[in-house]
Amino acid sequence: MGAEKTENDLPDWKRLLEESIMEPDALPSSHPEKLKRVISRYPMRINPYYLGLIREKNDPIYRQSMPDIRELDDKGAAPDPLNEEGHSPVRGLTHRYPDRVLLLVSSECAVYCRFCNRKRKVGRPGMVTDRSIEEGIDYIRAHREVRDVLLSGGDPLLLEDARLGEILSALHAISHVEIIRIGTRVPCTLPQRITPELAGLLQKFHPLYMNVHFNHPLEITAEATLACNRLADAGIPLGCQTVLLKGVNDDPSVMQELMRKLLIIRVKPYYLFHGDPARGTSHFRTSVSRGLNIIRELQGHTSGLCVPHFAIDLLGGGGKVPLLPDYLQGREDGSLLVTNYRGNAYRHPDGTDD
Ligand SMILES: *Cc1c(COP(=O)(O)O)cnc(C)c1O
Ligand code: SF4
Repeated sequence: MGAEKTENDLPDWKRLLEESIMEPDALPSSHPEKLKRVISRYPMRINPYYLGLIREKNDPIYRQSMPDIRELDDKGAAPDPLNEEGHSPVRGLTHRYPDRVLLLVSSECAVYCRFCNRKRKVGRPGMVTDRSIEEGIDYIRAHREVRDVLLSGGDPLLLEDARLGEILSALHAISHVEIIRIGTRVPCTLPQRITPELAGLLQKFHPLYMNVHFNHPLEITAEATLACNRLADAGIPLGCQTVLLKGVNDDPSVMQELMRKLLIIRVKPYYLFHGDPARGTSHFRTSVSRGLNIIRELQGHTSGLCVPHFAIDLLGGGGKVPLLPDYLQGREDGSLLVTNYRGNAYRHPDGTDD
């Protein structure tokens, strides 16, 4: 009792974070100076858990987390492609849609993903402060039309339980806020963070939804399974926001395996995002046709629960727009001409509205 805390007293997840690789010196590279420049522009962090998932150089886990000199040669793309700052009435809050807002509550992540569309901001002090969070909550309190608040960052679950609890309590106390959502990659990149205490805390703020972020079947480990089950057992509906990434998951069979494995850990695929044109990420971006083809190979071929909305987030802040393969081919004599998942053509009678 009363003894000083030693390193061994740190919860497992904090020790893992402290033991993260933050410097490219640890990496074998033929361009060490260029890699240093990458890191000075876009921070690096790979915690030992996520590092341990790498099997070999350039595998899907490696590509998502290891800095790459291609992040530097990306002149055409926009630093803030979604114009989040343009729709930001107060710093750290984006109000783009009529009834919901995005509130940044943390600037840190458990791994700095190389494809991140906020990579110009994450890991920088000043992106989020106690003051910006307070102003964001004041804005929500003053805007009765906001019925859905999405907490994002950075990763909200890198906050300490007590701090997260304060923010959730303040939002929960606002009568017009009907639901709270947390967007987090922690169940994938640092599942040890999902402690029984955290699940118990989150449970107090229902209806609370969570969107997790898995991009490859190799990420669905025993640890991630435990984390997601713990959240689901706390009554939190789990969705997944996956990003379509060249050389990582831009393959129908990989994506099908990922979506099936998500359902097994009680996560419903929600969005599959086409890569945003964010500066420093163009080597990850595929064509939109590739995403549409993946959806075509999922729909009908496996459980409908496996099929996320494939969406682009419009450049300049137009919001998310879902895209579908063209099943409706045309109309003829009051009938619809429709192609099914096997590519067979059908005529289906239309109805009338009067
Ligand atoms: C993605 C996003 C939302 C939430 O969109 P949903 O389609 O409701 O999941 C809200 N605000 C902003 C700024 C967003 O980028
Ligand atoms: S966890 Fe999310 S916000 Fe953080 S670096 Fe990865 S993609 Fe970006």
